Amino acid sequence: MPTFDYAPAPESRSIVDIQPSYGLFIGGEMVDPIDGTRFKSVNPATEEVLSEVVAAGPQDVDRAVDAARAAYAGAWSRLSGRDRGKYLYRLARIVQERSRELAVLESIDNGKPIRESRDVDVPLVAAHFFYYAGWADKLGYAGFGPDPRPLGVAAQVIPWNFPLLMLAWKIAPALACGNTVVLKPAETTPLTALAFADICQQADLPPGVVNIITGAGDTGRTLVEHPGVDKVAFTGSTEVGRQIARSVAGTRKKVTLELGGKAANVVFDDAPLDQAIEGIVNGIFFNQGHVCCAGSRLLVQESVADELLAGLKRRLGTLRLGDPLDKNTDIGAINSAEQLDKIRMLSEVGETEGAERWSPPCELPERGFWFPPTVFTGVSQSHRIAREEIFGPVLSVLTFRTPTEAIEKANNTPYGLSAGVWTDKGSRILWMAQQLRAGVVWANTFNRFDPTSPFGGYKESGYGREGGRHGLGAYLDV
Ligand code: NDP
Repeated sequence: MPTFDYAPAPESRSIVDIQPSYGLFIGGEMVDPIDGTRFKSVNPATEEVLSEVVAAGPQDVDRAVDAARAAYAGAWSRLSGRDRGKYLYRLARIVQERSRELAVLESIDNGKPIRESRDVDVPLVAAHFFYYAGWADKLGYAGFGPDPRPLGVAAQVIPWNFPLLMLAWKIAPALACGNTVVLKPAETTPLTALAFADICQQADLPPGVVNIITGAGDTGRTLVEHPGVDKVAFTGSTEVGRQIARSVAGTRKKVTLELGGKAANVVFDDAPLDQAIEGIVNGIFFNQGHVCCAGSRLLVQESVADELLAGLKRRLGTLRLGDPLDKNTDIGAINSAEQLDKIRMLSEVGETEGAERWSPPCELPERGFWFPPTVFTGVSQSHRIAREEIFGPVLSVLTFRTPTEAIEKANNTPYGLSAGVWTDKGSRILWMAQQLRAGVVWANTFNRFDPTSPFGGYKESGYGREGGRHGLGAYLDV
C-alpha cells in the first residue's frame, strides 16, 4: 500500500483541441475521403468518443501514394540534404514547442500516463527528428558509399503502443534520406498522427512529402501491397508481419519488420536488488506492458528469488493505477477492449496451466479498460504465459541456478528483440551479451531508448534495424 496518499494532480486537457471529425492528410492538406468510411476513436480510460476518423479506402490510398510520388519526383528529390535537414530541424523544434499539447493528446488517445508521454515519448520524438536532421547532409559519410540514393515512396504502418514515437522512428530517417512517405497510424490511436499533419503544415513541408491516412488493417494491407510503393516499414504483431513479408515477396520493395518480443530480464544473485526491482517494474509495467521489448519474463537466480519477489511485491503495492492525465499515475488504461480481452484470456490460461497469480490490492475504475499489475510465479518454460507475447502488465517469473541455465532459458523463445542482465560483474555482462540472441541487451537498466542506438530483432522479432546509423540503411538504395 502507498505510504501516504497523493492529492490528485490532473494535467488540464484544455490545451488540446480535438475536432469532432478529421479527413485524410494528403498532398499537404486535409481532404475528405473518396471511398473511405468513418469510424469513432475512443478514450480507453473513459470510453468517451473523442472524434470520428476516416478508414481510408483503396482510392484514398491511391491518391496518397500518388501525392507521395509526385512530391518525391518534384520538390523533395531536388532539395539538397542540407535543405531537407532544415525541414527536419523545424519539425523537431515545433514538436518541442507543442510538447505539452502532444503529451496530453497522446495520453487521452492511448491511455498511457501523462508522466510517460510527457517525459519519455514526446522528448524522444523530438530527439529522433533532431538526430536524423543531423544526418540529412552527411549521408555520404554514413558508410553507404559517397552518394547514397533514396528509395522513393515509403509505406509505413505503425501500432498503437507508442503512436507518435513510432511515427518519428519511421518518418525522420525516411525524410532525412530523401524519401517521401505515406503513414498509417493504428486504428485506435490516430489523433497524434493527425496533429503531426498539422505540424507538417506549420513547418511548410512541401505538400505530399508526408501523407497520413487513417484506417484499420484493410487500409494498412492496401497500402503495403500498393504497386507504387518502394519501401515498406512495419511495426506490430508477428502475425501481421508474416502476412506483409509474404505479400511483398517477389516484388522490388525493401522491407523492415519490427515485431513482437518475449524478453528475458535476468537477475543474478550479485545484482543490486533494489535497483533490479526498479528495472523489473520499468521493464514490464512501463506503458501498461504494451511494449514490444518489455521484460515480460523475469529470470531470477534461485538463491535470491524469495528476497527479490518479496521486494518486488512491496514495490508493486506502491504503484498508482488510474487517470492517465494525473501526474501521479504510474499505470494507465489498456489501449482497447480487444487488447484487454487478450490479456485476460492469457492470464486465465496461466492460472489453468498451474502458475500462481498475484496482484497488489488495486481498485480499478468503473469505466474504461483496466488491468491490475500482475505477477505469475511457478511458471515453467512450456506455459503459454512464458512463450506468448501478452502485451500487458503481466510478469512471468522463472528461476535458474547457473549462468548457462539462464542463457538457455532466456534464448528459449521464438522471439529475439531485447534482454536485460542484472549483475555486479562487468565480465558477466559481456559474456551474457554475447550469448543472448536479442537485438538489444540492457545491462543494469531496462527500456532505455536513444535515437543514436539501432533497435531491432532476431528470429520472429523481425528484421532490419531502426535508429542510429543503421536506421539510414533501411531507407537508402544500398
Ligand atoms: P497489428 O499488428 O494488427 O497492428 C499493427 C498495425 O498494422 C496497425 O496499424 C494495424 O491496423 C495494421 N494492420 C493490421 N493488419 C494489417 C495488414 N494485414 N496489413 C497491413 N497492416 C495491418 O497489432 P494489433 O493492434 O492487432 O495487436 C495484436 C497483438 O500484436 C497485440 O496483442 C500484441 O501482442 C502485438 N503487438 C505488438 C507490437 C509490437 O510493437 N511488437 C505492437 C502492437 C501490437 P489496425 O490498428 O487498424 O489494426
